[in-house]
Amino acid sequence: MLALLMRPLPLLIPAIAVLLLVPVFAADQPPPPYTLTEVWSPIPPVVTTPASGVPSDAIVLFDGKNLDAWEPAVPGGHPWKIEDGAMVIIPTAAPARPTDQRTKQSFGDVQLHLEFRTPAEVKGEGQGRGNSGVFFMGLYELQILDSDHNPTYVNGQNASVYKEHAPLVNASRGPGEWQTYDAVFIAPRFAADGTLLKPARMTVFHNGVLVQYDVALTGPTPNGPTYNQPKLPPYEAHAAKLPLLLQDHRNPNAFRNIWVRELTLPETK
Ligand code: MG
Repeated sequence: MLALLMRPLPLLIPAIAVLLLVPVFAADQPPPPYTLTEVWSPIPPVVTTPASGVPSDAIVLFDGKNLDAWEPAVPGGHPWKIEDGAMVIIPTAAPARPTDQRTKQSFGDVQLHLEFRTPAEVKGEGQGRGNSGVFFMGLYELQILDSDHNPTYVNGQNASVYKEHAPLVNASRGPGEWQTYDAVFIAPRFAADGTLLKPARMTVFHNGVLVQYDVALTGPTPNGPTYNQPKLPPYEAHAAKLPLLLQDHRNPNAFRNIWVRELTLPETK
């Protein structure tokens, strides 16, 4: 190349012309083999990810300002409260039915981000300490519990899929510390006659650590009337989208920075 540049201009002109013609001749040639494995469309949509951490296509369910996205899940139930930018459970005293909160909007397949805090003041033990939960579709619980030196059945500890799958590791922080869940929930699929086609699936990162990897759910996680049974409840056909629910388990847990992204995955269409 250096030798080419050293030549007088009149000699360079034909050389440049030949270089310019190369693409014309190349168009008639078979494409280079490496291009056969290149895919150029469809182009993935652009999602911006600002420093706040909320992707541009996320649906914000709680940003510390109001509870507009939520409603009590039981008739006549009370809303929870906002304290220092956190959504805090107002525990329902027994024996009244707990007042879970559910989203006004319904969801199917989602990516969820949620931050939670169990009470700094440690009270109770086992399932009675810092218990709450994220119920996808109001039916499938990703457990929240103070699992810092708090033995309980492992498929009921923090980050378990309640009574179905223990977490791979216990990545819990201590009481009063903020923790994160980043989860992918794939809704179950039912045939028109109500037969289960595909079970629900969940993948969860707890404080950035993988704790559930694509686990298949055996059915709804036990809660309320299905709780006090010797067997886990079976699937029953339901709508493709249902509200997300946060559990009042009579402990004053707190939440912040909750958002979801609705997913349309090629393999789940
Ligand atoms: Mg719970």
